[in-house]
Amino acid sequence: MTHTSTDSASSTDFYSHIASELAFIRSEDLYKVERIITGPQSAHIPTRTADGGQREVLNLCANNYLGLSSHPAVVEAAHHTLRSHGYGLSSVRFICGTQDLHKTLEARLSKFLGTEDTILYAAAFDANGGLFEPLLGEQDAVISDELNHASIIDGIRLCKAKRYRYKNNDMADLERCLAQARADGVRFTLVFTDGVFSMDGTVAKLDEIRTLCDTYGALMGVDECHATGFVGATGRGTPEYRGVWGKVDIITGTLGKALGGASGGFTSGRREVIELLRQRSRPYLFSNTLAPMIVGASIAVLDLLEGSNTLREQLADNTAYFRQAMADAGFAIAPGDHPIVPIMVFEAQLAQRLAARMLELGVYVVGFFFPVVPQGKARIRVQMSAAHSRADLEFAVAAFTQAGREIGLIA
Ligand SMILES: *Cc1c(COP(=O)(O)O)cnc(C)c1O
Repeated sequence: MTHTSTDSASSTDFYSHIASELAFIRSEDLYKVERIITGPQSAHIPTRTADGGQREVLNLCANNYLGLSSHPAVVEAAHHTLRSHGYGLSSVRFICGTQDLHKTLEARLSKFLGTEDTILYAAAFDANGGLFEPLLGEQDAVISDELNHASIIDGIRLCKAKRYRYKNNDMADLERCLAQARADGVRFTLVFTDGVFSMDGTVAKLDEIRTLCDTYGALMGVDECHATGFVGATGRGTPEYRGVWGKVDIITGTLGKALGGASGGFTSGRREVIELLRQRSRPYLFSNTLAPMIVGASIAVLDLLEGSNTLREQLADNTAYFRQAMADAGFAIAPGDHPIVPIMVFEAQLAQRLAARMLELGVYVVGFFFPVVPQGKARIRVQMSAAHSRADLEFAVAAFTQAGREIGLIA
């Protein structure tokens, strides 16, 4: 018998421990399976079936809000940039990884968001992960909404500031935290929230948060991943929607959702803040620069969005139609006007069954359950896209109605 490192008793224990964790996840019906898509992201996607065949389904679960993931102008801009600026930089930004295009995109994002400067990251996860530690120390405080994204939670964990957490979108509880931080004698306080909460589609009360921050002398930061490009009258995001555009201290966001959906993230704000992040933010300093074709295509996306409101209006129309039709069909959906539409199913297993049945009926949706949402709050989270036609949405509502009746969710 050959001796390998896997023969030792402790590593054998380790691997069987991992296997039993996996068995537990499966036994709880919480195991996430990745569906194979065999073509571009779109309203209709070809998927691989269990027997190795292919089947086209209507897609209701991409963050492809504006339908830009495979938009011809965006794809062409990526091709063009691939030829003009190459495939990759093989460097972090400060060594030899900054092209003219990176500076252009940063300036264009700043203009779009109403800020002074912007720094690009490989992902919004990195933007949030590398945000707090360079800016805040032991004497400072971060006050965070309880439903903030995992990357914000992780970013806060990496910094030494005191941590306070308030109930979701609860202004009285936020004020309690602000008063507590003041009583604790902290130096600087940063209140940080998702602009739109991704599991519910609810919009943060940035206007009220701004007022509270001003009262307590605190800074306000917002993660705009589910907002940049389509929330607000001209798509400038939650600050525009809530009437505080240009009045947010720090904005983080993604290029991986509405803005083309490839990958990449950013932090935007005051010049000196961005300057310090370039010096100290670890995911920026120690991770490769964003690929040129993504940067070039993202600039083309901003051209599109600044030139016309058509896609945004199409998305808003689709959202209003679908929300109303689903409510009329008897489904419990949280009210609002965001293209994230949570269809409440409550039980994890039921959410799994509904999603499976919907797929049989030709509609791809995903069930969300603990730990992604609280126990007993399982749901199907549907996301509208400007790429959906009215016929697509009618088809989806009919399928939901049939499947919902079959599993006893609606009458
Ligand atoms: C998707 C998302 C992220 C992560 O974005 P990536 O660019 O994919 O890393 C961060 N925050 C929020 C609120 C998100 O929805």
